[in-house]
Amino acid sequence: MKKNRLMFTAVLCLSLCTFLYGCDDTKSEKTTEQVSTKVQGKTMGTFYAVNVVGGYKGGEQALTELAENCFKKICDEISTFDKNAELAKFNEFKSTEPFEISSDLSKIIQDTVYQGRRIDDATDITVGPLVNLWGFGINKRNDSAPSPEQIEEVKKLVGFDKFELRFENHKNYLLKKDPDVRLDLSTVGEGLGADAVAEELIKQGYKNFMVNVAGASRSYGVNAEGRKWKLGIEDPTSPTPKLFAPICALDKAVTTAGSYRNFFKDEKSGTVYSHAIDPKTGYPVSHKTLSVTVISDSAFEADALDTGLLVLGADKTLEWGEKNNYPLATIEYKDGKPVMRHTKQFEPYLKCGSETANK
Ligand code: FAD
Repeated sequence: MKKNRLMFTAVLCLSLCTFLYGCDDTKSEKTTEQVSTKVQGKTMGTFYAVNVVGGYKGGEQALTELAENCFKKICDEISTFDKNAELAKFNEFKSTEPFEISSDLSKIIQDTVYQGRRIDDATDITVGPLVNLWGFGINKRNDSAPSPEQIEEVKKLVGFDKFELRFENHKNYLLKKDPDVRLDLSTVGEGLGADAVAEELIKQGYKNFMVNVAGASRSYGVNAEGRKWKLGIEDPTSPTPKLFAPICALDKAVTTAGSYRNFFKDEKSGTVYSHAIDPKTGYPVSHKTLSVTVISDSAFEADALDTGLLVLGADKTLEWGEKNNYPLATIEYKDGKPVMRHTKQFEPYLKCGSETANK
């Protein structure tokens, strides 16, 4: 089975599900719909959708431009798929000498490391060499797992001590401890994208909109029917798009990391390997936690946490969420079916109350 194809289908499903639930949750009721400007397209190897209720000045073309300018800036900074991006150039820089980077990239790295540190280093941006070894990076290839020896060798390049950020003479630098160290910020790309578009719309005075970049969303106010935006947590066990639990986003960012969306099956052993890699073992996660949904003020923060929490698994995720007061939900595979658990802070998002538009 080809991994690329699975990834394409699954990401499409999630983004479209989220988008549809966001827009059409009240189809059966008679309501007066406001005009909306809706656009969708591709970015970061996945899909995006933006819906501005009440219409966007300049219409679809201007809204597409707004979104794609935001995404381009992020891609130019953090892509490991575009050799001209800042991070890709750093990864190709086979030296331990200082490499000058922009202050924006420096901030993204610092903030992502900070979030990873909060969850026992489970989100670790030095997984780059492991991501490539397992075939989830630019050199997509695998239909079989690498050998334990290869994994041990590559693990030597992984860990927060394998690179350094330096600020000198008003300039930002990144330094590798080994010329083969590679950083990977793919885990936060979608969250950064959703935040960038949402913040631009807020700055321009829009009060009712939804932005989706695959598994990351930012919504604000109400939908075209004057009702609170609803999102769907997808059933990770269904081969076709299926809603597992509807949630109200309540003006927050929602992101989901899933081990079921991007994976490959080892042709010899039949083992399924997901793209969420445990930096401590060097192996993709193999427990029964299928997805982790995080709600936060910032899609970046939620996105930086969700992959690491998926690596930690449902028990540790929920324990961390209760302790740190986070709305989190997990879906695990138990007794042949998907089972959702959540922190008590998640409860308000499961109950959609009365709606009022942001005026
Ligand atoms: P998430 O769970 O949010 O992130 C998983 C990804 O994070 C993994 O794929 C891996 O790269 C990394 N990761 C795995 N384990 C860890 C860990 N423990 N700690 C930290 N990171 C980890 N894909 C393409 O096929 N073509 C493209 O042109 C392309 N361009 C991109 C450009 C940008 C700017 C970005 C950010 C991504 C791009 N991608 C591209 C990647 C693709 O869309 C990824 O699958 C996606 O970013 C991962 O997001 P996710 O929500 O699927 O998974």
